[in-house]
Amino acid sequence: MIKYALVCETGHEFESWFPNSDAFDTQSKRGLVTCPVCNSFKVSKAIMAPQVARKDREPAIVSAVPALPVAQTPVVPSVQPMALLDERDVALREAVRELRSRIIENSVDVGESFPEEARKMHEGDAPARSIYGKASLAEARELIEEGIPLMPVPELPEDRN
Ligand SMILES: [Zn+2]
Repeated sequence: MIKYALVCETGHEFESWFPNSDAFDTQSKRGLVTCPVCNSFKVSKAIMAPQVARKDREPAIVSAVPALPVAQTPVVPSVQPMALLDERDVALREAVRELRSRIIENSVDVGESFPEEARKMHEGDAPARSIYGKASLAEARELIEEGIPLMPVPELPEDRN
């Protein structure tokens, strides 16, 4: 088997395998070698001499310009989960925002000690008041299991800034 680079009369370049070097001449005279692009059977062997290098194999001039170091290219910010909201969702988000601000206005921020404070209040060791703060999922689950009424406050995207 021998592979030839071929070109049709309209300049389509393609490659084809032949059993031996004579087969191309024999087959092309019979019109059996056709261009896969335009089906022309006027096909000849492409000139393969290295000095007739095809354009796409020539070293591009731009490669002489040093490429920008990767570190200097801007880092794409990490992707945040997003949802396209419909009207009802927008209304819900507004309601959540209002609820959050009401909680924050009327409650004491106890921060990380929320589970401890919530438990103290529940046991009567601390005066009953509205508090808000932070708890891990496991801590929140424990508090709920102890019968302490708490509510997770949904986080809004702009709160993460
Ligand atoms: Zn062609």
